[in-house]
Amino acid sequence: MFAAEPAPTQFDLNFRIAGFPVRVHPLFWLIALLLGARDGDPMTLLIWAGTVFISILAHELGHAFAMRHYGQDCRIVLYMMGGLAIPESARWSGGQGRCSRGPLAQILISAAGPGAGFLLAGLVAVMVFAAGGAVHLFLAYGFLPIPIVFLPEVANEYWSEFASSLLWVNIFWGLMNLLPVLPLDGGQIAREMLTASDPWQGVVKSLWLSVVVGAAIAVIGFGVLQDRFVGILFAMLAFSNYMAIQNLRGRSW
Ligand SMILES: [Zn+2]
Repeated sequence: MFAAEPAPTQFDLNFRIAGFPVRVHPLFWLIALLLGARDGDPMTLLIWAGTVFISILAHELGHAFAMRHYGQDCRIVLYMMGGLAIPESARWSGGQGRCSRGPLAQILISAAGPGAGFLLAGLVAVMVFAAGGAVHLFLAYGFLPIPIVFLPEVANEYWSEFASSLLWVNIFWGLMNLLPVLPLDGGQIAREMLTASDPWQGVVKSLWLSVVVGAAIAVIGFGVLQDRFVGILFAMLAFSNYMAIQNLRGRSW
């Protein structure tokens, strides 16, 4: 979700999955642990870090497989609170993996990230049902469904917690990522759709859409959800998109 690739460090974790090179920057673990450090149970913290790792890796793999489908190899970097699927060849120009392929290919590549998360959530739900468990939806604030997994008595309680957090993160972050706010995946999809007919006005429209939706989500994050992370994130995104509009104005009008 964040565009700049961090420099390699000696604490990087490197491995390959499905032929894609993956690099995990040490700050990824630090931020994941900081955000999960709400109560003192080290096992809960471990479950949270595992959830974030698996979920963001699945999301980036979704982008990576879609790029490979269009003949583009890439590598994956997990950094801070997000990941990057970075194209390997110079055929792609620009920092965010935009290329000369059609808008439909770009839209599918952007949608494949959240799509992979929804697929993983579905897989977790199937495994829960196969183990004789159940998924209950608990409505937070009257409108936000939070999945709670119940497993049979024999299962360790931590498995229910792990499955619950995998469902929550993959569904909720997937939906959040589909909001039409740049540089989130939904913002990239909105930009592709708006620039298809009018490249110049389309970019400006997609930036304004990002400002308005970003500001609205920030207000909901602070006011309704009382979630500072969501509030601060979307306030920053709204502001950076507003600055991008000002930059465009300064350059061309
Ligand atoms: Zn993505």
